[in-house]
Amino acid sequence: MTKLKILTLGNPILKKKSKAIKKITPDIKKLIKDMTETLHAAPGVGLAAPQVGQSVRLILVDVGEGLTVLINPKLTKKSGKQEMIEGCLSLPGLRAPIERYAHIFVEGLNRSGEKVKIEAHGLFSTVIQHEMDHLDGILCIDRVKDPSTIIFEPFEISSKEPNL
Ligand code: ZN
Repeated sequence: MTKLKILTLGNPILKKKSKAIKKITPDIKKLIKDMTETLHAAPGVGLAAPQVGQSVRLILVDVGEGLTVLINPKLTKKSGKQEMIEGCLSLPGLRAPIERYAHIFVEGLNRSGEKVKIEAHGLFSTVIQHEMDHLDGILCIDRVKDPSTIIFEPFEISSKEPNL
């Protein structure tokens, strides 16, 4: 089992725009496998490749309904608004309310390189948008409307809240 190191706030890779994946090479397949193990071990509900130091457009989401792997994801439809308290494996202990689209459609490739279209609501929708932001160098704290709403809690206390 390979548990990758998760980069935290201050690492410049987290602020970079990631590159599209042109071909699903053995290295990409290995990265997906290692990221899956890292996500489940964290534990988290989402992980983006830049968080493990790879500046490529790949996200993993698992909100308890099975793992979704998305390569080169694009938001094709969005509607409504919702606010959830978000945390991030790259911002250990920080949490803040973030507003996102409530209902989204995302297109991309799955781990086999096949085109997929995903519809998401609720937590699934928020986590996909949070992970897609990582691909553009955006952290959830960059989207906080009121900085006074950011809180710090060590993970031991806040483990009931999902980590994105
Ligand atoms: Zn995150």
